[in-house]
Amino acid sequence: MARYTGAVCRLCRREGQKLFLKGDRCYTEKCSLDRRGYAPGMHGNARNKKLSEYGVQMREKQKAKRYYGVLESQFRDYFEKANKKTGMTGENLLAILETRLDNVVYRLGYAMSRAEARQLVRHGHFTVNGKKVNIPSFLVKTGDVIDLKDDSRSLSKIKGSLEANASRVIPKWLDFDKNKATAKVIAEPAREDIDLPIEEHLIVELYSK
Ligand code: SF4
Repeated sequence: MARYTGAVCRLCRREGQKLFLKGDRCYTEKCSLDRRGYAPGMHGNARNKKLSEYGVQMREKQKAKRYYGVLESQFRDYFEKANKKTGMTGENLLAILETRLDNVVYRLGYAMSRAEARQLVRHGHFTVNGKKVNIPSFLVKTGDVIDLKDDSRSLSKIKGSLEANASRVIPKWLDFDKNKATAKVIAEPAREDIDLPIEEHLIVELYSK
């Protein structure tokens, strides 16, 4: 699956917001956005123009894609899927993104960033309903059980992340038994469970043009 391989801090600087794409570093004074809080590029420091309505919608869509590390075509597919479901399309879209396996691994605290979670999934550290799944975009559904494999529990990277994320609030739609390293999806993610500052209605407006 294709993915963005450029410098991720540029993405935060482009959006003018912390997207927390680099794990530990995002919480330190080394954060590029804290040090250079203007858009990347030669004229980034000088740019301060007011965005058009289309520009605002576009930026919101880009921000959502970047939070979840999803490229345009896949994001569009998620939108189409969300649009076919009953309920609010924007909320459906975020709920679908939340149920990606890499996001679930991140939400459970096994990784410091979604990019790191993606790598852990790719390396085959997790099972869903007892079967190894190494596809980060795999969508979990209500009733699914996500386990960290026994021989992966001693990995220092995973142990370190769990310790560092000990105070992270696990979303209500996931029932996590940290000692057994097992989690069950007990509901679909609700909008209030998704703590990202995304105005999803702007994305719906953009794609509805
Ligand atoms: Fe964004 Fe993290 Fe880079 Fe800061 S350190 S700019 S929050 S990715």
